[in-house]
Amino acid sequence: MASDKNIIEKNDKVFSDIEFENSLLKDVVMSDAILYFKVNVTKDLICERNIINPNSQVQVPQPEDFGLTPPYSFKELCQKISNSFIPNDSEDDVSFLNDPLNKIREAYEKGIKTIYKNYWIGKDNKKITLINQLLVLRKHKDGDLYAFSVLRNFYKVQQELKRSYEKEIENFAFYDAITEGANYNKFKTTLKKLGIPGVIVAIDIHSFKIVNSICGISKGDLVIKTIWEKITSTLDAEKNEFAAHVSSDHYIVFYPTYDTELIIEKIEELTKLIRDCSQTLKVPTLEPYFGISEWHPDKKVELSNNEAVIAKHTAKNLTSENYSFFDRRDNLRLIREKRIIDSFDSALEKEEFKVWFQPKYNPITKKMVGAEALVRWQQEDGSIISPISFIPIFEQNGIIRKLDEYIFRKVCQYQKEWEKQGKKTVPVSVNLSRASLYFKDIVSQYKQILDDVGLKPNLVPIEITETAAVNNESIKDIADNFYKAGFPLHMDDFGSGYSSLSSLNVLHFETLKLDKSLVDYIGNFGGDRVIEHTICLAKELGISVTAEGVENEDQDRFLKHVGCDNIQGYFYSKPIPCEEFELKLDNYCLINNNLSTDKIAEHIVEYRQSLIKPTLYTFIVNLSQNYITQDSGVCDWLSEVKNFSSYDEVVKNLADNYILDQDREAYLNFFDRNKILESYCGSEETRILHYHRYLQKNPSKMRSLINIFTVPESKDLLMYVSVTQLN
Ligand code: C2E
Ligand code: MG
Ligand code: MG
Repeated sequence: MASDKNIIEKNDKVFSDIEFENSLLKDVVMSDAILYFKVNVTKDLICERNIINPNSQVQVPQPEDFGLTPPYSFKELCQKISNSFIPNDSEDDVSFLNDPLNKIREAYEKGIKTIYKNYWIGKDNKKITLINQLLVLRKHKDGDLYAFSVLRNFYKVQQELKRSYEKEIENFAFYDAITEGANYNKFKTTLKKLGIPGVIVAIDIHSFKIVNSICGISKGDLVIKTIWEKITSTLDAEKNEFAAHVSSDHYIVFYPTYDTELIIEKIEELTKLIRDCSQTLKVPTLEPYFGISEWHPDKKVELSNNEAVIAKHTAKNLTSENYSFFDRRDNLRLIREKRIIDSFDSALEKEEFKVWFQPKYNPITKKMVGAEALVRWQQEDGSIISPISFIPIFEQNGIIRKLDEYIFRKVCQYQKEWEKQGKKTVPVSVNLSRASLYFKDIVSQYKQILDDVGLKPNLVPIEITETAAVNNESIKDIADNFYKAGFPLHMDDFGSGYSSLSSLNVLHFETLKLDKSLVDYIGNFGGDRVIEHTICLAKELGISVTAEGVENEDQDRFLKHVGCDNIQGYFYSKPIPCEEFELKLDNYCLINNNLSTDKIAEHIVEYRQSLIKPTLYTFIVNLSQNYITQDSGVCDWLSEVKNFSSYDEVVKNLADNYILDQDREAYLNFFDRNKILESYCGSEETRILHYHRYLQKNPSKMRSLINIFTVPESKDLLMYVSVTQLN
């Protein structure tokens, strides 16, 4: 009787099902069977028998039937065969061979559908080959019990299994799924086995993530594979040069030489090949950079690799070359990093961390609509350290949480103070590092700070970087809790990683911030389309869009055109210290703290009703205080005047650069602030001037209407200017 360990349960279909027979036969062929019988157990008859040629995997007719003439019985066959079988050591297998039919019947009655046995084939009691027999038992619909018997070479089966298993393990351990080439494990093993000195070169591509953002991840994978092919095409295997794909856009190469010139030559060749890929693949320029470290058999491969990676980071910031050899001085950087960490507590105590503000503007009205708080480290000697030099260091050891919380508290306190002073404030967003997000109690802590200060959360939106937000379930909970607590959430750096618009929706983001790297592609490689579609999708999801890193007029114009809600960038303003930002807030209030802006709006609405022709742009001047506030307009007037701090300067600049000579004097007279102040007779007044100016480099006929007025509660004299193009 078959013991339990020899039983494998299979499905219990009635075997007349042709599919079953076919699939069984297929399994049999695949599993390297030698012999196959179909046995009618009830009638003790062999119905079918085949020898299966394991080499060709094709069924061949059996040349002889062990001296039997068909039809013959299974029992007869078993006896014949068993002459050359030496029963296995197991008692059970011996007894099965002596009485196969009853054993099969007994097994089937117990519900057993599969029997598995091993026998030795031998001569003179000498074991030659171990045979494995598999019997699949099925009842035919006519009521007879059938057994499908398959004999296999046990070792061959085992060997095959082992080989395919080993191959699978090797593939998994040594090969890379994207490039189908070697991975870092394979690289290490090969190098250790080879044991000859040389250099390890680490390769990376500048702004590779942008390829994924702009062209999609499958194109990104194609780029990774193509670069891999370029790298391997330069390798001479006979000289023991080899490479591996480490991850994403990171590759590693081994050259068995210390010859610097030769290495640089190789790097230059690779640089050219990789750059050329951009054109053939139609993607943004692929700019590689390289770090090089020496290796010898007594050194750990990991250590050399680390050194090459450190050197690669040095190369990333070089402008002269795109490669760097590892230098012991790089270790100094690590020491410097430690010093930064050690001085954090005292810097915090001495209030060396300052909040700077970068305003965000509405591209249509050119009005400031918000700002982002950006930390600066102002040291005792007055020097200012940029956050990119210390934030990544603080992110590695949890210090960042303290800093983020400190900045958040400061911003809340500023907002409260401005509120008290009656300034018209704007929301100031605060960055929250992904490392801070790992602290579960962060939301309650931020809420506590708001309560302490007495501020509403809508004035301090939270910026969470895209990569943190997209890939992490626990962050989802924290983002949810911030949202529930009333904090507007901004997804920062969108487009710098594996951008996912779907996560925006799930994570309740109110605003998406397009990363500078994406904005830089405006006008290139489909960057326009990506931005346009992103904005479109965001709008559909009810999410507003702020573009970061906007540096020029073309970018500003394009973004305005495609409906980008807000702009943050050097084009409007660099990050500025608190005192400067406060001035902007003052200006933002138009006139002064006591003056109601509603009153001005009322006045302007009334005045506008009397104008018939649509205006090109309008603005308001505080003549008493000598400054100007852009109100609205369809032309990029602000770009002409944004660098001037007073109304007087603006008038002079416009007259010098844009007004045709013939009208310059009249223009200067008309808009002269002192003259207007002197001539104002105490009641509202409208004046008109026709003149010619250059508009987009062409002369145009213009009309300026000015309305001079005061509003209650203010002593200042105001002027509303509307400019119309007449041709
Ligand atoms: P971010 O949050 O994406 O901030 C925008 C960065 O882009 C700022 O760099 C800003 O100065 C810069 N930027 C804005 N417009 C332009 C432009 O037109 N051209 C160029 N070239 N750059 C522009 P910054 O201030 O150096 O900050 C860098 C990063 O440091 C920030 O990127 C943010 O991730 C991080 N950071 C700054 N302050 C904090 C903070 O308090 N906490 C945390 N966790 N991170 C912070
Ligand atoms: Mg930010
Ligand atoms: Mg950003």
